[in-house]
Parts: sequence; C-alpha cells; structure tokens
Amino acid sequence: MPLPFALDHVNLWLLEDGEGWTAVDTGLGWEPVRALWRGLLPAHPLQRVLVTHCHPDHMGLASWLQREAGATTWMSPREFATAEAWHGESPGNAPQDLYAFFRLHGLEDRRRAALERRGNTYRQGVPELPSQVRGIREGEEILVGEHAWKVVMGQGHSPEHASLFCEALGILIAGDMLLPRITTNISAHSVAPREDALGLYLESLGRLEALPGDPLVLPSHGLPFRGLRIRVAQLRAHHARRCDLLQAACAQAPRDAASLLPVLFEREIEDPFQTLFAMGECIAHLVHLERRGLLGRVEAGGPVRFVA
Ligand SMILES: [Zn+2]
Repeated sequence: MPLPFALDHVNLWLLEDGEGWTAVDTGLGWEPVRALWRGLLPAHPLQRVLVTHCHPDHMGLASWLQREAGATTWMSPREFATAEAWHGESPGNAPQDLYAFFRLHGLEDRRRAALERRGNTYRQGVPELPSQVRGIREGEEILVGEHAWKVVMGQGHSPEHASLFCEALGILIAGDMLLPRITTNISAHSVAPREDALGLYLESLGRLEALPGDPLVLPSHGLPFRGLRIRVAQLRAHHARRCDLLQAACAQAPRDAASLLPVLFEREIEDPFQTLFAMGECIAHLVHLERRGLLGRVEAGGPVRFVA
C-alpha cells in the first residue's frame, strides 16, 4: 500500500483463512489506501485483521475495515493502549510532550516549531480506533486457515510489536522488526524518557534469531528476503558502530542529542518528519550508552548533555 512519505510503501499480507481472509496490517488511514482496499475486498472477504503494531501505516484503517468488511482487529493490548494514548493525547503522550522532551535534549526552536505545525500526526494517520479488539500475547499460536502462526513479541520500535512465525511454511512476517535495506527506527519517548529502547530492540533480535530453520522473512518495507541471522548480525553491527561514534563524539565535551544528529546521520536532516525519527533514535542510543555506564549525563544549565 502506498505511503505519502519518503518511505513510500508498506507491505501488507493476506492469508487464506477458511472461507475468508486474514490481513496482516491495514495501511495508512488515507483515501488512496481505502480505494485500493475497496478494490480488494470483493474477492477477499476479510474476517480478521492482525495488527503487528500501532503505527499509522500498520493500523490506520483497522476501524474502517471493521466497519467496511466486518473484520475483527487482533493486536497486542499494549499496542492498543499506546494507540489510545497517542490518539487521545493522554498525559505524557501528546505531541507537545514529545516536543518538550526534544527541547530538553537540545532541539532548537526553529526545528521544533516545524514539528509543532504538523499537529497530531498520529490522529491524521489513524483517524479512528477500532471499538473492539481481541488481544494477542507472546507465544500464542493463531490458527489462520490450516496454519498456526506463533506470535513473537519484540520491543524497541514500538511497545510490543508482534511478528508472526509459521514453522510449517518456514515464513516469518517480521513487520518492522527486521527490514532488509533500512534499519528499524528505535525511538525514545517522552512518557518513558529513561527506557532503554535500543537495549530492548537488541534483546528482541535475539528472540527472532533463535527461531528454527532459515525462514523467508516478510518485512513491512522492502522485499522479502532470506538470511535472518545475517541481517540480525548486520543490525547489531550497525548499532554498535553508531554507539561507538556517539561515545567518541562525547569524549571531548558534553554534547546534547540535537548537536549529535550529524554524527549519527550522514545526510542533513531538515524534514520535520525525519527530525522526529532522528531525535528519538539519537536519544535512544545515548540512553543505551548511559545504561551501559559508557556515558554520563549532565543536567545542570541548559539541555541534557552526555559525556564519555
Ligand atoms: Zn513501525
């Protein structure tokens, strides 16, 4: 399904499910995606939508598909609670909370203002939430047609991201946890500012790596691939390298996250959407280094800074 961003598509999966179909993810709550679904639904009566996680490109149309096709939404209760928090702007989860958090980490007024002008982008991508959800949990086996799909939860990208593994078919629907060409965004959030999102993500990779066999990996962005363990090793090396770069940059003097964006990312980050991901990612790496005792935190006078 198309996305109106630099990342221009999201992959959804349709699984034969007896008389009907189960969709994995929904696409963004956006008219061109609804139009594509309208074309698909007559030949693919949907009975269920399995949502990997709460991000707009994955659950944006869950409510609409519930109404339009009668498909029940199955997803992690933690993911649904996060969707409710972002949609309803509960304490600590409103866009202003995130921008205040970024300000604390040194993001300059001009760039913050560009973010603020966008409003609640979550609500724009997920216009409405499903009124009923069937919760799924770690290790649960979900029967889709004749096949059992095991839920493998992962953290760091979102609170409790569900990947789905079918041993009989040798297929892992990895969602955003494993992408072939780009790295998954790992973000710190205002509501849990000291959470080690990168540590949680790396730990989750271990669970995916431990799956039996050499499954075909179906990612949410990019092409299906084989080589799950090679990709996990690449991702581990990528984050270790980024951590080394940040640690080296903080060796001379204390630095705040915003000033470290050019260290972490080779290209200039100007687009507000990219700023959002970049700041979250940078803070997550700094908190991870702090947790491991490799960076210290300086909080007196001005933005939070980190020093090796
Ligand atoms: Zn995502």
